[in-house]
Amino acid sequence: MKVGIIGSGVAGIASAIRMACRGHEVDVFEANNYPGGKLSQFRLGEYRFDAGPSLFTMPSYVERLYALAGVPVEEHFSYERLDVVCNYFWEDGTRVHAYSDAEKFSEELQNKLGVDEDTVHRILKDSQRKYDICGEIFLEKSLHKFKTWVQPKILKAMLLIPTLDLFRTMNATNSGITSNPKLIQLLNRYATYNGSNPYKAPGLLTIIPHFEYNIGAFVPHGGMHNITTSLVSLAEKKGVRFHFGKKVEKINVDNRAAKSITIDGQQLAYDSLISNMDIYSTYKKLLPDVAHPERTLQQERSTSAVIFYWGVERSFPELDVHNILFSEDYKTEFEAMQKGGIYQDPTVYINITKKYVATDAPEGCENWFVMINAPHQNGQDWESMIQTARKQIIEKINRILKLDIESLIAQESLLDPRTIESRTSSHLGALYGSSSNNKMAAFMRHANFSNKIKNLYFCGGSVHPGGGIPLCLLSAKIVDEIMHE
Ligand SMILES: Cc1cc2nc3c(=O)[nH]c(=O)nc-3n(C[C@H](O)[C@H](O)[C@H](O)COP(=O)(O)OP(=O)(O)OC[C@H]3O[C@@H](n4cnc5c(N)ncnc54)[C@H](O)[C@@H]3O)c2cc1C
Repeated sequence: MKVGIIGSGVAGIASAIRMACRGHEVDVFEANNYPGGKLSQFRLGEYRFDAGPSLFTMPSYVERLYALAGVPVEEHFSYERLDVVCNYFWEDGTRVHAYSDAEKFSEELQNKLGVDEDTVHRILKDSQRKYDICGEIFLEKSLHKFKTWVQPKILKAMLLIPTLDLFRTMNATNSGITSNPKLIQLLNRYATYNGSNPYKAPGLLTIIPHFEYNIGAFVPHGGMHNITTSLVSLAEKKGVRFHFGKKVEKINVDNRAAKSITIDGQQLAYDSLISNMDIYSTYKKLLPDVAHPERTLQQERSTSAVIFYWGVERSFPELDVHNILFSEDYKTEFEAMQKGGIYQDPTVYINITKKYVATDAPEGCENWFVMINAPHQNGQDWESMIQTARKQIIEKINRILKLDIESLIAQESLLDPRTIESRTSSHLGALYGSSSNNKMAAFMRHANFSNKIKNLYFCGGSVHPGGGIPLCLLSAKIVDEIMHE
Protein backbone atom coordinates (compact mmCIF):
# COMPACT_ATOMS: atom_id res chain seq x y z
CA MET A 1 0.00 0.00 0.00
CA LYS A 2 0.96 3.61 -0.49
CA VAL A 3 0.18 5.53 2.69
CA GLY A 4 0.10 9.33 2.91
CA ILE A 5 0.38 10.99 6.33
CA ILE A 6 -0.67 14.59 6.92
CA GLY A 7 1.50 16.16 9.64
CA SER A 8 4.67 15.13 11.43
CA GLY A 9 3.55 15.57 15.04
CA VAL A 10 4.69 12.75 17.32
CA ALA A 11 1.64 10.67 16.37
CA GLY A 12 2.23 11.24 12.64
CA ILE A 13 5.84 10.09 12.96
CA ALA A 14 4.84 7.05 15.05
CA SER A 15 2.16 6.16 12.48
CA ALA A 16 4.75 6.47 9.71
CA ILE A 17 7.10 4.05 11.53
CA ARG A 18 4.29 1.58 12.07
CA MET A 19 3.17 1.77 8.42
CA ALA A 20 6.74 1.34 7.16
CA CYS A 21 7.20 -1.65 9.48
CA ARG A 22 4.17 -3.20 7.77
CA GLY A 23 6.03 -2.90 4.49
CA HIS A 24 4.00 0.03 3.12
CA GLU A 25 5.42 2.91 1.09
CA VAL A 26 5.04 5.99 3.30
CA ASP A 27 5.12 9.74 2.64
CA VAL A 28 4.74 12.29 5.45
CA PHE A 29 3.72 15.81 4.44
CA GLU A 30 4.48 18.53 6.99
CA ALA A 31 3.40 22.16 6.64
CA ASN A 32 6.33 23.44 8.73
CA ASN A 33 9.96 23.26 7.72
CA TYR A 34 10.70 21.08 10.75
CA PRO A 35 9.22 17.91 12.26
CA GLY A 36 7.50 17.35 15.62
CA GLY A 37 4.69 19.92 15.66
CA LYS A 38 4.31 20.85 19.32
CA LEU A 39 7.26 18.58 20.18
CA SER A 40 9.87 20.76 18.50
CA GLN A 41 12.74 22.95 19.64
CA PHE A 42 14.32 26.30 18.86
CA ARG A 43 17.33 28.37 19.84
CA LEU A 44 17.62 31.88 21.22
CA GLY A 45 21.25 32.98 21.08
CA GLU A 46 23.19 30.46 23.15
CA TYR A 47 20.05 28.99 24.73
CA ARG A 48 18.11 25.94 23.46
CA PHE A 49 14.44 25.45 24.32
CA ASP A 50 11.98 22.61 23.92
CA ALA A 51 9.03 24.47 22.46
CA GLY A 52 6.15 22.48 23.97
CA PRO A 53 6.07 19.30 26.05
CA SER A 54 8.45 19.10 28.97
CA LEU A 55 7.25 16.06 30.90
CA PHE A 56 8.10 12.64 29.52
CA THR A 57 6.17 9.64 30.76
CA MET A 58 5.70 6.12 29.36
CA PRO A 59 9.02 5.84 27.49
CA SER A 60 8.07 2.22 26.82
CA TYR A 61 5.71 3.51 24.12
CA VAL A 62 8.74 4.97 22.28
CA GLU A 63 10.67 1.77 22.86
CA ARG A 64 7.85 -0.26 21.34
CA LEU A 65 8.46 1.54 18.04
CA TYR A 66 12.14 0.57 18.07
CA ALA A 67 11.25 -3.02 18.93
CA LEU A 68 8.77 -3.10 16.06
CA ALA A 69 11.41 -1.78 13.68
CA GLY A 70 14.01 -4.26 14.96
CA VAL A 71 16.42 -1.44 15.81
CA PRO A 72 18.20 -1.41 19.21
CA VAL A 73 16.75 1.56 21.05
CA GLU A 74 19.79 2.16 23.27
CA GLU A 75 21.91 3.07 20.25
CA HIS A 76 19.55 5.90 19.28
CA PHE A 77 17.42 7.03 22.19
CA SER A 78 18.06 7.06 25.93
CA TYR A 79 16.54 8.67 28.97
CA GLU A 80 16.74 8.68 32.72
CA ARG A 81 14.27 8.63 35.56
CA LEU A 82 13.90 11.74 37.71
CA ASP A 83 14.39 11.34 41.47
CA VAL A 84 12.36 14.46 42.12
CA VAL A 85 9.33 14.55 39.84
CA CYS A 86 8.51 18.16 40.67
CA ASN A 87 9.29 20.90 43.18
CA TYR A 88 6.20 22.60 44.58
CA PHE A 89 6.29 26.11 46.08
CA TRP A 90 3.56 27.98 47.95
CA GLU A 91 3.37 31.66 48.85
CA ASP A 92 3.60 30.94 52.60
CA GLY A 93 7.11 29.54 52.12
CA THR A 94 6.13 25.83 52.05
CA ARG A 95 8.28 23.83 49.62
CA VAL A 96 7.66 20.19 48.76
CA HIS A 97 9.91 17.89 46.76
CA ALA A 98 7.71 15.30 45.05
CA TYR A 99 10.08 12.33 45.15
CA SER A 100 9.48 9.52 42.72
CA ASP A 101 10.21 7.11 45.55
CA ALA A 102 6.91 6.63 47.38
CA GLU A 103 8.59 6.17 50.77
CA LYS A 104 10.57 9.40 50.43
CA PHE A 105 7.55 11.28 49.08
CA SER A 106 5.47 10.08 52.06
CA GLU A 107 8.14 11.26 54.46
CA GLU A 108 8.35 14.62 52.71
CA LEU A 109 4.58 15.13 52.86
CA GLN A 110 4.50 14.10 56.50
CA ASN A 111 7.30 16.56 57.37
CA LYS A 112 6.16 19.48 55.22
CA LEU A 113 2.37 19.15 55.21
CA GLY A 114 1.70 16.98 58.24
CA VAL A 115 -0.06 14.41 56.10
CA ASP A 116 -0.54 10.82 57.38
CA GLU A 117 2.24 8.42 56.51
CA ASP A 118 0.10 6.09 54.42
CA THR A 119 -1.59 8.82 52.32
CA VAL A 120 0.83 8.62 49.38
CA HIS A 121 0.56 4.84 49.30
CA ARG A 122 -3.23 5.03 49.31
CA ILE A 123 -3.22 7.61 46.50
CA LEU A 124 -0.85 5.62 44.31
CA LYS A 125 -2.57 2.32 45.01
CA ASP A 126 -5.93 3.76 44.03
CA SER A 127 -4.45 5.32 40.92
CA GLN A 128 -2.93 2.00 39.88
CA ARG A 129 -6.20 0.18 40.63
CA LYS A 130 -8.06 2.48 38.27
CA TYR A 131 -5.41 2.02 35.59
CA ASP A 132 -5.51 -1.77 35.94
CA ILE A 133 -9.28 -1.79 35.52
CA CYS A 134 -9.62 0.43 32.51
CA GLY A 135 -6.25 1.79 31.31
CA GLU A 136 -5.40 -0.74 28.68
CA ILE A 137 -8.83 -1.20 27.16
CA PHE A 138 -9.83 2.46 27.17
CA LEU A 139 -6.47 3.84 26.08
CA GLU A 140 -4.94 1.18 23.85
CA LYS A 141 -8.02 0.10 21.88
CA SER A 142 -10.46 1.84 19.61
CA LEU A 143 -13.66 2.60 21.51
CA HIS A 144 -15.45 2.68 18.19
CA LYS A 145 -15.01 -0.96 17.25
CA PHE A 146 -17.43 -3.69 18.31
CA LYS A 147 -14.49 -6.00 19.01
CA THR A 148 -13.34 -3.78 21.89
CA TRP A 149 -16.68 -4.01 23.64
CA VAL A 150 -16.87 -7.80 23.66
CA GLN A 151 -13.56 -8.40 25.47
CA PRO A 152 -13.92 -10.04 28.90
CA LYS A 153 -11.87 -7.15 30.39
CA ILE A 154 -14.46 -4.60 29.34
CA LEU A 155 -17.22 -6.44 31.15
CA LYS A 156 -15.14 -6.31 34.33
CA ALA A 157 -14.45 -2.59 33.76
CA MET A 158 -18.14 -1.88 33.19
CA LEU A 159 -19.07 -3.68 36.41
CA LEU A 160 -16.46 -1.67 38.31
CA ILE A 161 -17.46 1.73 36.83
CA PRO A 162 -19.07 2.81 40.12
CA THR A 163 -15.62 2.52 41.75
CA LEU A 164 -13.80 4.61 39.13
CA ASP A 165 -14.98 8.03 40.40
CA LEU A 166 -16.52 8.83 37.04
CA PHE A 167 -19.51 10.49 38.66
CA ARG A 168 -17.76 12.88 41.03
CA THR A 169 -15.20 15.53 40.20
CA MET A 170 -11.47 15.13 40.55
CA ASN A 171 -11.49 17.72 43.33
CA ALA A 172 -14.20 15.81 45.21
CA THR A 173 -12.26 12.57 44.74
CA ASN A 174 -9.02 14.09 45.99
CA SER A 175 -10.81 15.77 48.89
CA GLY A 176 -12.07 12.30 49.86
CA ILE A 177 -8.48 11.06 50.12
CA THR A 178 -7.02 13.91 52.17
CA SER A 179 -8.24 17.03 53.90
CA ASN A 180 -4.91 18.82 53.45
CA PRO A 181 -5.62 21.74 51.06
CA LYS A 182 -2.05 21.84 49.72
CA LEU A 183 -2.03 18.14 48.90
CA ILE A 184 -5.47 18.45 47.30
CA GLN A 185 -4.12 21.29 45.16
CA LEU A 186 -1.06 19.21 44.21
CA LEU A 187 -3.29 16.28 43.21
CA ASN A 188 -5.83 18.49 41.42
CA ARG A 189 -3.02 19.79 39.24
CA TYR A 190 -3.02 16.51 37.31
CA ALA A 191 -6.20 17.66 35.55
CA THR A 192 -4.02 20.14 33.66
CA TYR A 193 -2.07 17.25 32.14
CA ASN A 194 -4.84 17.02 29.59
CA GLY A 195 -5.99 20.61 29.72
CA SER A 196 -8.95 20.08 32.04
CA ASN A 197 -10.43 21.69 35.10
CA PRO A 198 -10.21 19.59 38.31
CA TYR A 199 -13.42 21.15 39.63
CA LYS A 200 -15.33 19.82 36.60
CA ALA A 201 -13.37 16.84 35.27
CA PRO A 202 -14.27 13.38 36.58
CA GLY A 203 -12.32 11.73 39.37
CA LEU A 204 -11.19 9.06 36.94
CA LEU A 205 -8.36 11.47 36.05
CA THR A 206 -6.81 10.52 39.40
CA ILE A 207 -5.37 7.69 37.29
CA ILE A 208 -2.65 10.12 36.09
CA PRO A 209 -0.32 9.97 39.15
CA HIS A 210 0.05 6.25 38.43
CA PHE A 211 1.99 7.16 35.27
CA GLU A 212 4.15 9.76 36.98
CA TYR A 213 5.04 7.96 40.23
CA ASN A 214 4.43 4.22 39.86
CA ILE A 215 5.93 4.11 36.36
CA GLY A 216 8.00 7.28 36.51
CA ALA A 217 8.76 10.72 35.15
CA PHE A 218 11.71 10.73 32.78
CA VAL A 219 13.97 13.07 30.83
CA PRO A 220 15.21 12.09 27.38
CA HIS A 221 18.96 12.65 27.04
CA GLY A 222 19.47 15.70 24.86
CA GLY A 223 16.03 17.13 25.71
CA MET A 224 12.43 16.43 24.76
CA HIS A 225 13.11 17.22 21.15
CA ASN A 226 15.24 14.10 20.97
CA ILE A 227 12.00 12.10 20.96
CA THR A 228 11.19 13.75 17.64
CA THR A 229 14.66 13.60 16.08
CA SER A 230 15.27 9.99 17.06
CA LEU A 231 11.85 8.85 15.80
CA VAL A 232 12.29 10.75 12.53
CA SER A 233 15.61 8.98 11.93
CA LEU A 234 14.03 5.65 12.83
CA ALA A 235 11.26 6.33 10.31
CA GLU A 236 13.79 7.31 7.65
CA LYS A 237 15.75 4.13 8.38
CA LYS A 238 12.59 2.21 7.57
CA GLY A 239 12.21 4.09 4.30
CA VAL A 240 9.69 6.79 5.25
CA ARG A 241 9.95 9.94 3.08
CA PHE A 242 9.40 13.25 4.87
CA HIS A 243 8.34 16.30 2.83
CA PHE A 244 8.75 19.52 4.83
CA GLY A 245 7.16 22.85 3.93
CA LYS A 246 4.34 20.90 2.24
CA LYS A 247 0.92 21.95 3.45
CA VAL A 248 -1.88 19.57 2.47
CA GLU A 249 -4.73 21.64 1.02
CA LYS A 250 -7.40 19.01 0.53
CA ILE A 251 -8.27 15.35 0.98
CA ASN A 252 -10.00 14.24 -2.21
CA VAL A 253 -12.88 11.83 -1.73
CA ASP A 254 -14.43 9.81 -4.52
CA ASN A 255 -17.19 7.29 -4.14
CA ARG A 256 -16.95 7.61 -0.31
CA ALA A 257 -13.28 6.72 -0.25
CA ALA A 258 -10.24 8.94 0.34
CA LYS A 259 -8.24 8.75 -2.88
CA SER A 260 -5.67 11.52 -2.88
CA ILE A 261 -4.43 14.73 -1.30
CA THR A 262 -3.86 18.09 -2.95
CA ILE A 263 -0.58 19.92 -2.33
CA ASP A 264 0.48 23.02 -4.27
CA GLY A 265 -2.52 22.39 -6.54
CA GLN A 266 -1.27 18.90 -7.45
CA GLN A 267 -3.14 15.68 -6.64
CA LEU A 268 -1.14 12.81 -5.13
CA ALA A 269 -2.86 9.41 -4.98
CA TYR A 270 -2.66 7.10 -1.92
CA ASP A 271 -4.31 3.82 -0.91
CA SER A 272 -4.75 5.07 2.65
CA LEU A 273 -4.47 8.45 4.31
CA ILE A 274 -3.76 9.24 7.95
CA SER A 275 -4.40 12.75 9.21
CA ASN A 276 -2.28 13.89 12.16
CA MET A 277 -3.76 17.38 11.74
CA ASP A 278 -6.19 18.47 14.48
CA ILE A 279 -9.51 16.73 13.76
CA TYR A 280 -11.49 20.00 13.66
CA SER A 281 -9.09 21.51 11.13
CA THR A 282 -8.97 18.27 9.12
CA TYR A 283 -12.72 18.42 8.52
CA LYS A 284 -13.07 22.19 8.15
CA LYS A 285 -10.01 22.79 5.96
CA LEU A 286 -9.31 19.53 4.12
CA LEU A 287 -12.79 18.03 3.81
CA PRO A 288 -15.07 21.02 3.18
CA ASP A 289 -17.47 19.04 0.97
CA VAL A 290 -18.34 16.14 3.27
CA ALA A 291 -20.76 16.08 6.20
CA HIS A 292 -18.95 16.99 9.43
CA PRO A 293 -19.60 15.24 12.79
CA GLU A 294 -20.51 18.59 14.38
CA ARG A 295 -21.40 17.21 17.82
CA THR A 296 -17.95 15.71 18.14
CA LEU A 297 -16.19 18.72 16.67
CA GLN A 298 -17.98 21.24 18.88
CA GLN A 299 -16.91 19.64 22.17
CA GLU A 300 -15.27 22.00 24.64
CA ARG A 301 -11.58 22.46 23.81
CA SER A 302 -8.86 21.89 26.36
CA THR A 303 -7.00 24.79 27.90
CA SER A 304 -4.10 26.43 26.13
CA ALA A 305 -1.01 28.12 27.59
CA VAL A 306 1.10 31.24 27.59
CA ILE A 307 4.80 30.43 27.64
CA PHE A 308 7.75 32.75 28.13
CA TYR A 309 11.11 31.31 27.12
CA TRP A 310 13.77 33.13 29.08
CA GLY A 311 17.52 32.89 28.86
CA VAL A 312 18.37 33.60 32.52
CA GLU A 313 21.86 34.76 33.52
CA ARG A 314 22.13 32.82 36.76
CA SER A 315 21.78 29.30 38.16
CA PHE A 316 19.20 28.34 40.78
CA PRO A 317 20.13 25.34 42.94
CA GLU A 318 16.73 25.58 44.67
CA LEU A 319 15.02 24.77 41.35
CA ASP A 320 14.97 21.44 39.51
CA VAL A 321 13.76 20.29 36.08
CA HIS A 322 10.06 20.76 36.94
CA ASN A 323 8.92 23.48 39.35
CA ILE A 324 5.46 24.74 40.26
CA LEU A 325 4.68 28.00 42.02
CA PHE A 326 1.09 27.53 43.10
CA SER A 327 -1.70 30.09 42.97
CA GLU A 328 -3.20 30.99 46.34
CA ASP A 329 -6.68 30.30 44.96
CA TYR A 330 -6.68 27.39 42.53
CA LYS A 331 -10.46 27.25 42.15
CA THR A 332 -10.73 30.90 41.16
CA GLU A 333 -7.84 30.42 38.74
CA PHE A 334 -9.84 27.76 36.87
CA GLU A 335 -13.04 29.80 37.07
CA ALA A 336 -11.22 32.72 35.44
CA MET A 337 -9.98 30.43 32.65
CA GLN A 338 -13.43 28.98 32.16
CA LYS A 339 -14.59 32.57 31.50
CA GLY A 340 -11.80 33.08 28.95
CA GLY A 341 -9.43 35.05 31.19
CA ILE A 342 -6.20 34.62 33.13
CA TYR A 343 -6.34 34.82 36.91
CA GLN A 344 -4.35 37.62 38.56
CA ASP A 345 -2.40 35.07 40.66
CA PRO A 346 -1.70 32.31 38.14
CA THR A 347 0.06 29.03 38.93
CA VAL A 348 3.51 29.32 37.35
CA TYR A 349 5.37 26.32 35.95
CA ILE A 350 9.12 26.62 35.37
CA ASN A 351 10.91 23.95 33.37
CA ILE A 352 14.71 24.04 33.11
CA THR A 353 16.28 21.50 30.75
CA LYS A 354 19.73 22.93 31.52
CA LYS A 355 19.46 20.89 34.74
CA TYR A 356 20.11 17.76 32.66
CA VAL A 357 21.35 19.05 29.27
CA ALA A 358 24.52 21.00 30.08
CA THR A 359 24.69 22.62 26.62
CA ASP A 360 21.18 24.12 26.78
CA ALA A 361 22.48 27.37 28.30
CA PRO A 362 25.86 29.03 28.81
CA GLU A 363 27.88 28.21 31.94
CA GLY A 364 26.23 29.67 35.04
CA CYS A 365 22.99 30.42 33.14
CA GLU A 366 19.67 28.59 32.70
CA ASN A 367 17.01 28.21 30.03
CA TRP A 368 13.67 28.87 31.71
CA PHE A 369 10.43 27.69 30.12
CA VAL A 370 7.86 29.64 32.13
CA MET A 371 4.30 28.55 31.50
CA ILE A 372 0.89 29.43 32.85
CA ASN A 373 -2.34 27.71 31.89
CA ALA A 374 -4.51 29.92 29.74
CA PRO A 375 -7.91 29.59 28.10
CA HIS A 376 -8.14 28.56 24.50
CA GLN A 377 -8.80 31.28 21.96
CA ASN A 378 -12.14 33.01 22.16
CA GLY A 379 -11.50 36.42 20.66
CA GLN A 380 -9.58 37.73 23.71
CA ASP A 381 -7.31 40.77 23.64
CA TRP A 382 -4.17 38.64 23.98
CA GLU A 383 -1.72 41.54 23.77
CA SER A 384 -3.06 43.14 26.89
CA MET A 385 -3.73 39.83 28.73
CA ILE A 386 -0.17 38.65 28.09
CA GLN A 387 1.36 41.95 29.18
CA THR A 388 -0.57 41.82 32.46
CA ALA A 389 0.21 38.12 32.98
CA ARG A 390 3.94 38.70 32.41
CA LYS A 391 3.97 41.30 35.16
CA GLN A 392 2.06 39.02 37.54
CA ILE A 393 4.32 36.05 36.78
CA ILE A 394 7.43 38.12 37.44
CA GLU A 395 6.01 39.43 40.72
CA LYS A 396 5.11 35.89 41.81
CA ILE A 397 8.57 34.51 40.99
CA ASN A 398 10.19 37.42 42.80
CA ARG A 399 7.98 36.95 45.85
CA ILE A 400 8.46 33.19 46.15
CA LEU A 401 12.11 32.89 45.10
CA LYS A 402 13.10 36.23 46.62
CA LEU A 403 14.89 37.72 43.63
CA ASP A 404 14.61 40.22 40.80
CA ILE A 405 14.14 37.91 37.84
CA GLU A 406 13.55 40.64 35.26
CA SER A 407 17.12 41.91 35.64
CA LEU A 408 18.43 38.40 34.82
CA ILE A 409 16.50 37.84 31.57
CA ALA A 410 19.00 38.00 28.71
CA GLN A 411 16.80 36.45 25.99
CA GLU A 412 13.05 36.21 25.61
CA SER A 413 10.50 34.61 23.32
CA LEU A 414 6.79 33.91 23.62
CA LEU A 415 4.26 31.23 22.65
CA ASP A 416 0.56 31.83 23.17
CA PRO A 417 -2.77 30.34 22.02
CA ARG A 418 -2.61 32.28 18.74
CA THR A 419 0.83 30.98 17.78
CA ILE A 420 0.04 27.45 18.99
CA GLU A 421 -2.91 27.49 16.57
CA SER A 422 -1.02 29.04 13.66
CA ARG A 423 2.04 26.77 14.01
CA THR A 424 0.25 23.44 14.45
CA SER A 425 -3.33 24.01 13.20
CA SER A 426 -4.63 23.12 16.67
CA HIS A 427 -8.18 24.43 16.78
CA LEU A 428 -8.36 27.50 19.07
CA GLY A 429 -4.80 26.84 20.23
CA ALA A 430 -5.92 24.03 22.58
CA LEU A 431 -2.97 21.97 23.83
CA TYR A 432 -4.78 18.65 24.07
CA GLY A 433 -7.70 18.68 21.60
CA SER A 434 -10.97 18.45 23.50
CA SER A 435 -11.04 18.81 27.29
CA SER A 436 -11.95 16.01 29.70
CA ASN A 437 -14.27 18.22 31.71
CA ASN A 438 -17.25 16.10 30.73
CA LYS A 439 -17.44 12.59 32.21
CA MET A 440 -18.32 11.26 28.75
CA ALA A 441 -15.38 13.06 27.08
CA ALA A 442 -13.31 9.88 26.70
CA PHE A 443 -16.15 8.34 24.71
CA MET A 444 -16.89 11.46 22.68
CA ARG A 445 -13.46 12.02 21.12
CA HIS A 446 -13.38 11.38 17.42
CA ALA A 447 -12.58 7.80 16.39
CA ASN A 448 -9.23 6.93 14.80
CA PHE A 449 -11.00 6.24 11.50
CA SER A 450 -13.82 7.71 9.49
CA ASN A 451 -17.00 5.68 9.36
CA LYS A 452 -18.18 7.70 6.35
CA ILE A 453 -15.01 7.80 4.25
CA LYS A 454 -13.08 4.63 3.51
CA ASN A 455 -9.28 4.56 3.80
CA LEU A 456 -9.17 7.62 6.04
CA TYR A 457 -7.65 7.43 9.51
CA PHE A 458 -6.84 9.92 12.29
CA CYS A 459 -4.09 10.07 14.90
CA GLY A 460 -2.83 12.70 17.36
CA GLY A 461 -3.92 14.61 20.40
CA SER A 462 -7.35 15.68 19.17
CA VAL A 463 -8.70 12.14 18.58
CA HIS A 464 -8.98 9.01 20.70
CA PRO A 465 -7.40 8.35 23.21
CA GLY A 466 -6.43 12.04 23.69
CA GLY A 467 -3.60 14.53 24.07
CA GLY A 468 -0.10 14.23 25.51
CA ILE A 469 2.82 12.31 24.04
CA PRO A 470 1.95 8.86 25.45
CA LEU A 471 -1.64 8.97 24.24
CA CYS A 472 -0.60 10.34 20.84
CA LEU A 473 1.74 7.36 20.47
CA LEU A 474 -1.14 5.06 21.38
CA SER A 475 -3.35 6.69 18.75
CA ALA A 476 -0.79 5.60 16.14
CA LYS A 477 -0.91 2.05 17.50
CA ILE A 478 -4.72 2.02 17.28
CA VAL A 479 -4.65 3.33 13.69
CA ASP A 480 -2.18 0.60 12.79
CA GLU A 481 -4.38 -2.09 14.35
CA ILE A 482 -7.67 -1.02 12.83
CA MET A 483 -6.17 -0.45 9.39
CA HIS A 484 -4.79 -3.99 9.34
CA GLU A 485 -7.66 -5.82 10.96
C1 LIG B 1 3.12 24.21 25.57
C2 LIG B 1 2.78 22.77 25.55
C3 LIG B 1 3.13 21.96 26.63
C4 LIG B 1 2.83 20.60 26.61
N1 LIG B 1 3.28 19.81 27.63
C5 LIG B 1 3.21 18.47 27.51
C6 LIG B 1 3.94 17.62 28.38
O1 LIG B 1 4.65 18.09 29.27
N2 LIG B 1 3.87 16.28 28.21
C7 LIG B 1 3.11 15.72 27.20
O2 LIG B 1 3.08 14.48 27.07
N3 LIG B 1 2.42 16.51 26.35
C8 LIG B 1 2.47 17.86 26.47
N4 LIG B 1 1.84 18.67 25.56
C9 LIG B 1 0.94 18.06 24.57
C10 LIG B 1 1.72 17.41 23.44
O3 LIG B 1 2.67 18.31 22.97
C11 LIG B 1 0.77 17.06 22.31
O4 LIG B 1 -0.33 16.30 22.79
C12 LIG B 1 1.44 16.28 21.22
O5 LIG B 1 2.76 16.71 20.96
C13 LIG B 1 0.59 16.44 19.98
O6 LIG B 1 1.10 15.67 18.94
P1 LIG B 1 0.27 15.41 17.63
O7 LIG B 1 0.78 14.14 17.05
O8 LIG B 1 -1.19 15.49 17.91
O9 LIG B 1 0.67 16.56 16.61
P2 LIG B 1 0.97 18.12 16.73
O10 LIG B 1 2.15 18.33 17.58
O11 LIG B 1 -0.26 18.87 17.00
O12 LIG B 1 1.45 18.38 15.24
C14 LIG B 1 0.60 18.33 14.14
C15 LIG B 1 1.46 18.57 12.93
O13 LIG B 1 0.65 18.56 11.76
C16 LIG B 1 1.10 19.59 10.91
N5 LIG B 1 -0.02 19.97 10.02
C17 LIG B 1 -1.20 20.51 10.39
N6 LIG B 1 -1.94 20.75 9.31
C18 LIG B 1 -1.23 20.33 8.24
C19 LIG B 1 -1.48 20.30 6.84
N7 LIG B 1 -2.62 20.76 6.31
N8 LIG B 1 -0.51 19.81 6.03
C20 LIG B 1 0.66 19.33 6.54
N9 LIG B 1 0.95 19.36 7.84
C21 LIG B 1 0.01 19.84 8.69
C22 LIG B 1 1.48 20.71 11.85
O14 LIG B 1 2.34 21.64 11.22
C23 LIG B 1 2.15 19.94 12.96
O15 LIG B 1 3.52 19.77 12.74
C24 LIG B 1 2.12 20.04 25.52
C25 LIG B 1 1.76 20.85 24.45
C26 LIG B 1 2.12 22.20 24.45
C27 LIG B 1 1.79 23.04 23.25
